[in-house]
Amino acid sequence: MTIKLHDTKQGTKVTFKPLTEGKVTMYLCGPTVYNYAHIGNARPAVVFDLLARLLRRRYTLTFARNFTDVDDKINAASAETGKPINEITEKYKRAYNADMGALGVLAPDIEPCATDHISEMIDMIKTLIDKGHAYEADGHVLFDVASDPEYGSLSKRNLREMIAGARVEVAPYKKAPHDFVLWKPSTPELPGWDSPWGRGRPGWHIECSAMAAKHLGATIDIHAGGTDLIFPHHENEMSQSTCVHDGQVFARHWLHNGFLSFHHEKMSKSLGNVLLVHDLIKTIPGEVLRLALLSAHYRQPLDWSDETIDQAAKMLDRLYGAVRGIEVSDAARRNAEPPKALIAALENDLNTPKALAEFFAIARALNKATDDDEREGIAATMYATGDLLGLLQDDPETWFAGHVEGELSSDEIEKILEKRHAAKLEKDYAAADTFRDQLAEAGVQIEDGPDGSTWRRT
Ligand code: AMP
Ligand code: ZN
Repeated sequence: MTIKLHDTKQGTKVTFKPLTEGKVTMYLCGPTVYNYAHIGNARPAVVFDLLARLLRRRYTLTFARNFTDVDDKINAASAETGKPINEITEKYKRAYNADMGALGVLAPDIEPCATDHISEMIDMIKTLIDKGHAYEADGHVLFDVASDPEYGSLSKRNLREMIAGARVEVAPYKKAPHDFVLWKPSTPELPGWDSPWGRGRPGWHIECSAMAAKHLGATIDIHAGGTDLIFPHHENEMSQSTCVHDGQVFARHWLHNGFLSFHHEKMSKSLGNVLLVHDLIKTIPGEVLRLALLSAHYRQPLDWSDETIDQAAKMLDRLYGAVRGIEVSDAARRNAEPPKALIAALENDLNTPKALAEFFAIARALNKATDDDEREGIAATMYATGDLLGLLQDDPETWFAGHVEGELSSDEIEKILEKRHAAKLEKDYAAADTFRDQLAEAGVQIEDGPDGSTWRRT
């Protein structure tokens, strides 16, 4: 059996083959750290975390996911809030890792930050100029798109579409409208680094090219991100990296996840429908969110609603319900493997809907089994499957104490009250209300008094 993955560049499903036998390198474009990640941003983190887990079964994987910590959006957030840039980027880096951790996303092997790689970016830009692929103009350095005959081969766009996609006003210093910025000048109040072209800062695309080359080499096996990144970000990364390395292939396989919408609308601040992972995990178990994200095939669009969450919660209740009350010895757990059909589904372009169907097939078999040894064996298989998928990581009793059967335990109620209190202290009244509603739904009424809050069952 081989792993098959859909490659955006080749436009089809292909047999995955790493450059070096037994070893795989993977780069995922990470977040720009100026706010909390929304549930759409979590989709690539979760699906490519699953791919990383799958690849590690067969290969030695080096997985890099970067932080974009120099960007005009960060500068704008700093100007808006009056907070120093470092404070913003550090806060949201930590929050990103904590939020993704709550979704069962394991830490990648390398988490490079753009600001630690400025000299590599400058070197890359110098090389591009020397090789005739970039030019300096008016304090900027621009990539000369016309110098790369392959430009457009990833996104399969023609020149007119590219110009429209560039979405920037045509600056007078550009030779062609779709030439893109590698370096731009900074005014004194903006972050900047000394360079042969004056004090300035890098463009977004060169950041990923420099970080990928430094940590994974000129050619990487898998480059991943959301479909919105195909153009211009990945097209530009590919072009500049290939030109720097004299035509060596930049990424052997390009993988892109489909978009997550909310009630069939794009998730955006202006529509007021942004669901932050940071908020969702206050009331919804991370595994529920993870399962919901994995319930659709990663390349398909995924529409998010309360129903998506309810369904995922019910599915987890069924899985936890199947293993509940079954003692599984350490030895049985160590020796267990996920079923072959489930691995085959994942190795076929990460077919998570099929893999989850296989997971439920084992749960059904477990529910039917009567022999104790057989039950222990099947439960061990379920835990091994859970370990691969990043699910079933809780003890079943803890799971059920926390999340189902209507009646919350007193401990659980106290914990929610504490969270509500903390939210109020942070003046996060929306979150505080969510906790009150959660308790009300479970038949618990809160009475706020001068000495704090008390509760009673209704
Ligand atoms: P950003 O911080 O905006 O660069 O986004 C981080 C990652 O999330 C990128 O890989 C994007 O492609 C991805 N992404 C952003 N919005 C969505 C969405 N609604 N659905 C799926 N992926 C998304
Ligand atoms: Zn990138």
